[in-house]
Amino acid sequence: MARLLEGKAIADKIKRGLLQEAGRLKKKAGHAPLLASIGLGDNESAKIYAASQKKSASGLGLDYRPCRLKVGTSERRLAEFIQKLNRDKSVNGIILQLPLPKHIDYRKISSYITVDKDVEGMHPANMGRLVFGQAKIVPCTAGAVMELIAATGIDLYGKNAVVVGHSEIVGKPVSLLLLDKFATVSVCHIGTSKAGKLADYVRRADVLVVAVGKPGLIKGEWIKKGAIVIDVGINRAGNKIVGDVEFNGAEKRASWITPVPGGVGPLTVVMLMKNLVEATKLQYGLI
Ligand code: NDP
Repeated sequence: MARLLEGKAIADKIKRGLLQEAGRLKKKAGHAPLLASIGLGDNESAKIYAASQKKSASGLGLDYRPCRLKVGTSERRLAEFIQKLNRDKSVNGIILQLPLPKHIDYRKISSYITVDKDVEGMHPANMGRLVFGQAKIVPCTAGAVMELIAATGIDLYGKNAVVVGHSEIVGKPVSLLLLDKFATVSVCHIGTSKAGKLADYVRRADVLVVAVGKPGLIKGEWIKKGAIVIDVGINRAGNKIVGDVEFNGAEKRASWITPVPGGVGPLTVVMLMKNLVEATKLQYGLI
């Protein structure tokens, strides 16, 4: 039976370190690291994310500045607003709250955030650093996945790692981070499934990371005995939240498995705060 890889305990440990670093940075700069959050309009889920980020920041002695713009703000105006925050020395990190209205191209607009304030790690230069194996700020969910794997204490060198899902925020960065640890990485996606090869890949995974958003996509009997299973998926099934992996079958075969909820989720906002601290250190030339 697998051991549970719960995000909260790992998050608490990271938080203790961040609290100390935030205090040190505050002494150096005269103010705590500050995260500016830009939201357009009144979207309910964007407001929920922002509230959780604010709570997390204040618990760590970090500052949080909500910036709410009109829903009809043009791309040009939004870009100018971001550039103003880029120049503002009191701001150390900038985040765009999703979802953005349809007239805003997220990829285009997020590249206006200066690279050292890009706490989501989505700027093309931060993605480039990831490819070069020199990432300082990594996308939060990908960072959370790596923290969970590290908590097992298992060395990834030479292990078969299979990542299901190739999105820019999870699958692709996780694949590169696993490659940095010298795992042999396979990345599966819709093409793998359509070719009927998903089960074959999953069966050989010593480490399996699934980020798709389809409940029960990964069958319990596909899991290799002793595998580490990280289920990033969040799906609503009736009044329950479930992942992408059939938990009951998988936990009988895996050595470690993340619960959903309670696995990756509790770590993502903490990784955002970690990125804010790293970004602040970059700005002060401390790393
Ligand atoms: P995306 O929709 O951006 O990506 C999903 C990926 O899954 C795509 O690469 C897609 O491939 C692939 N895919 C779709 N269907 C299949 C299939 N049948 N077989 C194999 N691959 C398939 O989602 P995200 O990466 O943003 O999120 C994935 C999941 O993780 C969601 O449930 C989301 O809610 C959750 N999530 C959880 C977080 C947390 O904090 N716990 C944070 C972020 C995400 P293609 O594009 O080729 O179709």
